[in-house]
Amino acid sequence: MESDRFRRRKQEQGRRADFLRVLLVLLAVLVVVLLVVVALVLYRDQAARKKQDAKQTAGQDQDVRQAAGREQDAGQQDAEQAAGQELDARGGKAGEPEQAEGKYETVIDEEDASAERVPIDAAEQSEDGDASGSGTAVQQVNIRKFQPGDVLSEEDLAGQPEKFFKAYRIGRKGGVFARINGRSYRDNPNIALSDLRYLRMLHYNFDHEIQVGEMVCNKAIAKDVLAIFRELFEEEYEVQSMYLIDNYWTGDGDSTDTASIDVNNTSCFCYREVTGGSKLSNHAYGRAIDINPQQNPYIWQKNGQWHWTHRNADPFIDRSGSDPHMVKEGDVCFNIFAQHGFSWGGNWSNPIDYQHFEKKG
Ligand SMILES: [Zn+2]
Repeated sequence: MESDRFRRRKQEQGRRADFLRVLLVLLAVLVVVLLVVVALVLYRDQAARKKQDAKQTAGQDQDVRQAAGREQDAGQQDAEQAAGQELDARGGKAGEPEQAEGKYETVIDEEDASAERVPIDAAEQSEDGDASGSGTAVQQVNIRKFQPGDVLSEEDLAGQPEKFFKAYRIGRKGGVFARINGRSYRDNPNIALSDLRYLRMLHYNFDHEIQVGEMVCNKAIAKDVLAIFRELFEEEYEVQSMYLIDNYWTGDGDSTDTASIDVNNTSCFCYREVTGGSKLSNHAYGRAIDINPQQNPYIWQKNGQWHWTHRNADPFIDRSGSDPHMVKEGDVCFNIFAQHGFSWGGNWSNPIDYQHFEKKG
């Protein structure tokens, strides 16, 4: 009996030892698997960061409404420097004069699917890595919480209106594309989506309030357009309305243009092929801007008579009036556009297009 009990105990101890051994092996396997997983995750993370660094833009969804997260002021950097740095980092283009002088441009690449949604100024900050580290309390401007048409208070502006002048790429997954596709934009052989930029800007409205505006234009003139409207803003020049023409979409380009003019809307890009194969307007290339069209109508002469289509322009056909929104050669609006290389439709002879400024390629 004694030896039986002893043997059983021995067997039991043996089984326990076997069990422990199996358990240890399993644990070891588990640890190895965990290590491999962690290594893989770290590797992927690093690769993604490298890729992002290379692009140096934190791309994100174009629809600012959907964008979450706050942005911080770069603090010790001024806007010019920040924009310059960002341009520097974008494909080493800083050496090219037109890029280097990019005073007001900030381009966010939203077509880079690998990029995270990062606030605009955070993307700029990532250059020096420690933009918020000064420890000083910096007034924060969160432009993402504002929509086109919003009227801003002094508090909203926080003394930094330059923060509100931004250019964005238009990605196919974004909210802007959803607004313009099939309306002012459609895929075509003449202008690509990647040739266009979506701009957010500020303007004084006709009540002299500061309002958020938006515009789509050709990327080749985006920097000019930001600078022009920034300068107009500094001059407190009034623009009644500045929304994408798609807000007035009626089903076709021509009647939409009419609807936009009816509400005195300032706009730029609208792709429409002229029937009969005539050449495209510069609006189709995003290279022409119509400003305050009610006070600055399109008129043409036929049989010695001047014609125009919009009755709301009746008081503004006589250009000797004193309305400050009538563009005249040599006035502040004309001069700012001219300084950036735009020509004015008000200098044409027939038709005359007082609202129209363009810069050809
Ligand atoms: Zn025009």
